[in-house]
Amino acid sequence: MEKKEKLYEGKAKIIYATEDPDLVVQFFKDETTAFDGIKREVLEGKGKVNCAISSFIFEFLEKNGIKTHYVRKLSEREVLVKKCEIIPVEVVVRNISAGSFSKRYGVKEGTELKRPLVEFFYKSDELHDPMVCSQHVELFGWATKEELELMKNTALKVNELLKNLFKRAKIILVDFKLEFGRHKGEVLLADEITPDACRLWDASSGDILDKDRFRKDLGRVVESYEEVYKRLVGGTQGAV
Ligand code: C5P
Repeated sequence: MEKKEKLYEGKAKIIYATEDPDLVVQFFKDETTAFDGIKREVLEGKGKVNCAISSFIFEFLEKNGIKTHYVRKLSEREVLVKKCEIIPVEVVVRNISAGSFSKRYGVKEGTELKRPLVEFFYKSDELHDPMVCSQHVELFGWATKEELELMKNTALKVNELLKNLFKRAKIILVDFKLEFGRHKGEVLLADEITPDACRLWDASSGDILDKDRFRKDLGRVVESYEEVYKRLVGGTQGAV
């Protein structure tokens, strides 16, 4: 599938058109940003390992009945996906307290939540992604009640599947962010699932294996992502 003109460039990915109007190419960049783009760095090899991890996870989710935008991996940094109109609501699922949840509610990092929690945030760098509730989503017309319900239920299913997948890799899935899009009227899981959008802790040492390494200047960011990929594939599918 040939890449055509650039349709959109985000902080970590570029979307290109293809000869098929229903399909686009998702290109994973090495650029890494945090704090609404204020902290920015090029981490060599990050795009490659994130492309491998996201492809692996989307294939796993598809096999387990989740409807996603994923079609196939095209190259080390490119994935063919169904063209979606992205719903501007970030869906965060939390199993353990960390990040903005710990800060907002004063809950110690690492505290296990009684049950998985789903939160919604309005996708806007300008407004710093404010937390919103279902009423805001409906009022502003970002998604219908039915779409939001489907997004929430899908996010909880994805959480159960990924918790087990990561458990097998001896990794704790602390929290993660999902995005959804509309393709021919159907809501599909879209965007990426990588350590850029998840919190992943080593099950025995508690070591951080995700983007918090970048946010907190802990170093070895790409090496940690490669470790996540290696453990996910269990050494059976070769290197990235
Ligand atoms: O910062 P916060 O604790 O709300 O993040 C929850 C989860 O969502 C983390 O895994 C974080 O990496 C992810 N996230 C993201 N993109 C955002 C906000 C959060 O991937 N814009």
